[in-house]
Amino acid sequence: MRAIITFHSIDTEDRVLSYPPVLFEMLLGALESCKLPVCSLDTLLDGKTEHGVALTFDDGMQSVFRYALPAIRDHKVPAHLFLTTGAVGGDNHWPTQPGDAPCYRMLNWDEVEALHEAGILVESHTHTHPDLRQLSRTQVQEECEMADAIIEQHLGRRPRYFAYPYGYISETAKSVSIQRYAGSVTTKLHYLDNNDENGLLPRLDSYYLKSPWLIQNLDSVLAQLYLGIRGFMRSVRGSQ
Ligand SMILES: [Zn+2]
Repeated sequence: MRAIITFHSIDTEDRVLSYPPVLFEMLLGALESCKLPVCSLDTLLDGKTEHGVALTFDDGMQSVFRYALPAIRDHKVPAHLFLTTGAVGGDNHWPTQPGDAPCYRMLNWDEVEALHEAGILVESHTHTHPDLRQLSRTQVQEECEMADAIIEQHLGRRPRYFAYPYGYISETAKSVSIQRYAGSVTTKLHYLDNNDENGLLPRLDSYYLKSPWLIQNLDSVLAQLYLGIRGFMRSVRGSQ
């Protein structure tokens, strides 16, 4: 069983992109007790690893520094942060964001640097978080290059992985991402299997892992994943 889990914000607000800190801590503990290692994407995708989970945080919300970093340090696990570089130090109201989207404060560069120094791998999520389906090949390349260059300039490491903003993908965006990155993650809800293309990696959204019951029963939940995660997760969530 291999899977990439998506988080956005770790905070106590009950919002669609928020994951409670207490559950985050509980989830890391549950992964330890059911002996499912938390790995980097490099390890998870090396072709030899059969069991593991990678943690990914999209956008770069300030709460990742405040709430996720202490738990990640305590559990000594790797994680990846897909950073929207143009939003650093501001909020998540980038140009394509729907006006009614909840407002989140984003990391500043000091906090991004602290995450990097703690071993969190800072990856690419474009500069302005556009809908890539609307962009030409040159524009997609410019979005990626600007983000990668800014990250490299601040941290001395060029991103190896990419997350498609909103999970919106075009053939052009996919082809650019395959050229530039070791792998690109989507919002397709699935665990990993051997047929996945590295340019279109599925993930499990933590939105479906918000139930304490589910985390406490992670062992049996993981077994159920093979039977069809989407229906199972939705049915569990609906029954809570
Ligand atoms: Zn995003």
